[in-house]
Amino acid sequence: MIRILIIDDQKEFRTLISVLLKISDLDVHVSEVKSGEDALASLGRETFDCVIIDYMLADSTGLNVLHQVKSIQPDLPVLMISSYIQSDIERGILAAGVDASLSKDELSLDKLNRTLNQILPKKVSGVLSDSIKENTINFQGLEGMKVLLVDDTPKNLDLLCQTLGDKGLDISIALNGKVALKLISTSPPDLILLDVMMPVMDGYETCHQLKNNDLWKNIPVIFISALTEEANLLKGFSLGAVDYITKPFRSEEVLARVNTHLRAAKLLKEKNLLINQVANKEVQLSILMASMLDGVMVIDRNREIRFANPAAEKIFGYSSSEMSGKSIDCFIPDNGDGEPGNYFNETLNSKNSPAIGKSFTLEGNNKNGEKIPLEISLNRVNFYPEEYNSEIKFEKLFVGVVRDISQRVESEKQIAKALETAEKANSAKTEFLAKMSHELRTPLNSILGFSQLSLLNKDNSENNLNIDNINRIYKSGKYLLDLIDEILDLARIESGKIRISMETVEISSLMDEIIVFSQPIASEHHVHLIYDSLESLGLYCQADRSRLKQILLNLVTNAIKYNIEGGTVTLTIKKEGEKIKLSVLDTGPGILDEHQESIFQPFNRLHADKTGVVDTGIGLTISKELASLMNGTIGVESVVDKGSTFFVELDSADEPNVPSPIQQVDKKLSPRKGEKKYTILYIEDNPNNLKLIEQTLSLRKHTNLISAPQAEMGIDLAKTRDVDLILMDINLPGMDGVEAMKILRRIEKTRALPILALSANAMERDIQSALREGFTDYIVKPINIAEFLEKIDKFLI
Ligand code: ADP
Repeated sequence: MIRILIIDDQKEFRTLISVLLKISDLDVHVSEVKSGEDALASLGRETFDCVIIDYMLADSTGLNVLHQVKSIQPDLPVLMISSYIQSDIERGILAAGVDASLSKDELSLDKLNRTLNQILPKKVSGVLSDSIKENTINFQGLEGMKVLLVDDTPKNLDLLCQTLGDKGLDISIALNGKVALKLISTSPPDLILLDVMMPVMDGYETCHQLKNNDLWKNIPVIFISALTEEANLLKGFSLGAVDYITKPFRSEEVLARVNTHLRAAKLLKEKNLLINQVANKEVQLSILMASMLDGVMVIDRNREIRFANPAAEKIFGYSSSEMSGKSIDCFIPDNGDGEPGNYFNETLNSKNSPAIGKSFTLEGNNKNGEKIPLEISLNRVNFYPEEYNSEIKFEKLFVGVVRDISQRVESEKQIAKALETAEKANSAKTEFLAKMSHELRTPLNSILGFSQLSLLNKDNSENNLNIDNINRIYKSGKYLLDLIDEILDLARIESGKIRISMETVEISSLMDEIIVFSQPIASEHHVHLIYDSLESLGLYCQADRSRLKQILLNLVTNAIKYNIEGGTVTLTIKKEGEKIKLSVLDTGPGILDEHQESIFQPFNRLHADKTGVVDTGIGLTISKELASLMNGTIGVESVVDKGSTFFVELDSADEPNVPSPIQQVDKKLSPRKGEKKYTILYIEDNPNNLKLIEQTLSLRKHTNLISAPQAEMGIDLAKTRDVDLILMDINLPGMDGVEAMKILRRIEKTRALPILALSANAMERDIQSALREGFTDYIVKPINIAEFLEKIDKFLI
């Protein structure tokens, strides 16, 4: 038994607290006094386990009484209650020695219970916690729900509290309507049991005010009254009460009704919570949908739009409500051509859904009838119908994510256009180069051809000045020819048209060729070539043989050209890991560090002009490009006034099973021996070219040249004369050389003859196409006399 003394000058609060204490878990004996003086008297007479003091008493303050109480019994737990208690005065109260404090506005069974349990010594508070009574009505799940009991009669409150006190509910009490409304405003209950006849504010008025307040109108009210007339009941219900219990009441009835309405209130609360959650989710979803830059459309099996987000509205120019219910065909028409649009439609109609999970592009229509390029990705989802019913199965719908790709399509168009323009410009450049090359080669054929013939002419050799002049003409012409060839090469590389055929290259035979070719140039420049042929024995690399030869010749001739009189050029070959390094070391002037990159740029000849070396300035550029096309690198290391080392690094290769045929070195030309005279027919409209070949072939006594300036005449000659070989210009007036060759290939007599094209068209594609058409070989003008004669010899058996 816990003995508690309540000190309060207001009777209603003394009653309220004492009722709450009686229905609490505690086994209590309550004494009430209205003043500090009475309290001291009681404390003098009896022993108490706890004192509850009002903060403001009529004759004194609660704190004064507290000091007096503590002076008598220092360990006595004191709970101070006040209508004023706020956090700031609460601190002062606690500092003064109060063990706990509570606001009168928040006074409830639960709070009082908890507070007393905290301040009472354990042995006291635990005494009656197991005094829970058995009851048939199950309050499980309703624990902690707040019930407000409003009645001015303490006895009634006492009874109600006894009935409901052990159900785990959070019970609070008010002695009239006004106090009840105040309590409700601070802590709204889940259920109110409301007496009708009360002082200050009766139950009807309390209920009326409650139901007129938006915040509280849903709190269920049960009237509990001695007024049993039907009119009273009707009035109660008309004011919004959910039930009416007449006094005297039976506990079971109260329990049953409170239980029912609390359960309903709980369900309602949970439902409202769910509705709020759903509403929140819906708001979040609509924010998400509205913020998406891509259009989202939900389409049903009837091809009708169920939903469209703002981005979809924007893409198609319709409002969401306009779109809803319309067929997808209004937006993405079925073009029936098997194209993506159709594919999309197939997906909607078929079970296999070929486009599910994929995205594809197609054309849509907007409200103005304009076509819009779209990118769509489709997925299938299982949706529950809005009015969910366990009988109705989920529905299969499609979700399409739509993106307007107009901008992308536009920029793709622009890129394609720019590409087309670039390709046109490129082919115009190629065309121009081909033309330029052809136009320059024709006069060069005469310049180079006749100068070569003059140099071969023994009569001239006595006249040194003449030889010197002809040499100059030949060298300048050769320079021009090299320049044209290199420009064409560079253009081919730049346009990606160069063909590289990689093979396993045996380095030793390649080096032999390089040495044979470079030796005369080295001698001319009084430079010594040093090369140890043993170094390259058994070494192979991956390269295009003729292109690698071109690179090495460029490096070696540079090393000779940019060297000192009596200098040396050393060639070394090394295998370094998986690489083969071919180096060309000279004793020339060297190259400053800052120039070592720029010499690989076209036409960058540094100070070559000063050295008197006449050359193009493109060689290294081409070499670098070719090396990189062969998966290799080219570089230079140099010391000014000491010399430079240019090197090429390529992937090494294993020795091939079948050794590659050793390339033939350039052969010295020697005229054929034998009695037979061979007739060569040359079809050529340019008299200079004809003259050149006439004079060249005069070096071959066993040949006899006949000629024709037009294709038709040439064909006639071939038919009537015994011809052994035909040389054919391609660009002829009237019928061209290719056409003429084709006719000759159809004539029995000439079908098997060697027909050699002799043309200034030096473009690779022209050469290849002529060979495909049926020419036996192709000689590019200007001709190299020695090579030309060698070729003629080869075909005249
Ligand atoms: P070209 O030799 O036809 O002028 P290249 O592209 O082969 O053109 O070389 C570019 C420039 O690099 C040359 O003009 C020359 O100034 C410099 N160069 C090339 N090789 C050497 C070298 N071995 N020593 C010094 N300078 C060189």
